[in-house]
Amino acid sequence: MKRQDIRNVAIIAHVDHGKTTLVDQMLKQSGTFRSNEFVEERVMDSNDLERERGITILSKNTSVMYGDVKINIIDTPGHADFGGEVERIMKMVDGVLLLVDAKEGPMPQTRFVLQKALKEGLKPIVVVNKIDRTDARVEEVIDEVLDLFIALEADDDQLDFAAVYASAKDGLAKLNQEDEATDLRPLFEEILKQIPCPEGDSEAGLQLLISNIDYDKYIGRIGIGKIIRGTVKKNQMAVLASTKGQNLNVKISNLYSFQGLGRRDIEAATVGEIVAISGIADINIGDTICSVDDVEAVPFVKIDEPTISMNFLVNDSPFAGKEGSFVTSRHLKDRLDREMLSNVAMKLEEISSDCFKVMGRGELHLSILIETMRREGYEFAVSRPEVILKKTEDGLMEPFETLFVEVPEENVSAVIEKLGQRKAEMLDMAPTGTGIVKLQFRIPARGLIGYRSEFLTDTKGYGVFHHLFDGYDNYRGDIRVRARGSLVAFETGTAVAYGLYNAQERGIMFIGPGTEVYEGMVVGESARLEDIAVNVCKRKQLTNVRASGSDDALKLVPPRIFSLEQSLEFIADDELVEVTPKNIRIRKKILD
Ligand code: GDP
Repeated sequence: MKRQDIRNVAIIAHVDHGKTTLVDQMLKQSGTFRSNEFVEERVMDSNDLERERGITILSKNTSVMYGDVKINIIDTPGHADFGGEVERIMKMVDGVLLLVDAKEGPMPQTRFVLQKALKEGLKPIVVVNKIDRTDARVEEVIDEVLDLFIALEADDDQLDFAAVYASAKDGLAKLNQEDEATDLRPLFEEILKQIPCPEGDSEAGLQLLISNIDYDKYIGRIGIGKIIRGTVKKNQMAVLASTKGQNLNVKISNLYSFQGLGRRDIEAATVGEIVAISGIADINIGDTICSVDDVEAVPFVKIDEPTISMNFLVNDSPFAGKEGSFVTSRHLKDRLDREMLSNVAMKLEEISSDCFKVMGRGELHLSILIETMRREGYEFAVSRPEVILKKTEDGLMEPFETLFVEVPEENVSAVIEKLGQRKAEMLDMAPTGTGIVKLQFRIPARGLIGYRSEFLTDTKGYGVFHHLFDGYDNYRGDIRVRARGSLVAFETGTAVAYGLYNAQERGIMFIGPGTEVYEGMVVGESARLEDIAVNVCKRKQLTNVRASGSDDALKLVPPRIFSLEQSLEFIADDELVEVTPKNIRIRKKILD
């Protein structure tokens, strides 16, 4: 059965390229092209925040109607991949929309997600957005996208992509630049034409593959996935074939489809639909919901193990507890418990009543949670990131990652050298013919702590890397990182953050108290860093407090820290500092 009435697409875009604006416009225009004049009211029950602020907060799943066709739009994570989320999304959809800013062009940060989409054989539609900008460079941007596709080894069909020129802001799209356009109809039409309809046997036994988990405080855990074959009905009995190999009898007590930014109760759904179900407490990513008489699980996409941990502590600083903030142990625990329900590659351990160990897929994974929570008003302290070690009879074991790196040719040697210091072993090096070289390494997870900002500085922001869990192996001994700079300290009443200031780069690499160099102070401790920096700057009338050019870091840290223009106090000028636990401790004394 071909579902002519459904299209499932993933949307890939760099931050600020206009994803939210575009989806919002698609929602606004959704239904207005219907033949029967019936315009459905937008339903956003799961998004109170949105109603309050009158803006669209993109949910993971949004659906828009175009005529009688339902287009499910699945958001992809902007950062990287934690636990295979991108891969699972790509398996739910039949095509992707790559949204690119007409001035900025494709950004390196989206390469990873795009690559997964191309690898999955999905055909992209390239939407060049913001064509209304006076500085738009549409033709060049299309060429850059083409170069990127070539570098990512797109096949001929994918290289023959459809391009749509859009102004999400004005709610219009066109296929040729010289066309007149008044709405997004050309984009909708192109989605219908280019993206294949989902297909499958609606009469066969049910297979609903759970690809994502969401959580709602009223209805609990929600499993989201695509019906690969068969039909599902509300209140039917089914079997949950879990990834652990167990089969559980369950009742589908609640079934939903996506409508606008919200969910809607439905009675039944069939092959090709993306649906949500609630009421099954044990539901997990990778599980398959099957008919009772025909149990066949879909092969499981594995979730990588956490390798890095950080302790989240109740903030007992005298400055804690601004109005509207959450500061108690109960607040912290509830919020973390909630996170664990949907952040599948993360784990939580309660160390004591006011200390929680959060384990994740790397520093960035944890940093994003920290930043999100701080934005929500949670005040807490965090420890430096630590690798999760295991003790066996043979000795101490540590986790290793396979690291995939793409860098401009001229930065290759710097990257290899730095990774060498971090005990990485090079496995492969391949030029792509477009000025970008692909490298592959095996590295202790420990070696990646603090590496991101260094890498982004070394590659001027043009490099990208991602890593996948490889396994546990013998502990490789100390990692020492040499960096040139002056040691600086930012302090508040309760916390001190240390950084290495590099005058040439005009950047600060933040380092943890008493340990290896790490970026966590920028990314991980950003909210407190903000207080620290602002505080110190005010008190000592300092400025010029900048962090090195990590895009991710800059995105996470409020930019006002970086725009001050004065000078910092240095302990020593531009000496070569070897950052070792001992060294920092000595420095700490000097600073005290
Ligand atoms: P997102 O981060 O990808 O979701 O981006 P947003 O939708 O939040 O847009 C980022 C910024 O770009 C906002 O200030 C938008 O108003 C602006 N923007 C979005 N679409 C357009 C467009 O078509 N033209 C122009 N000039 N600005 C746009």
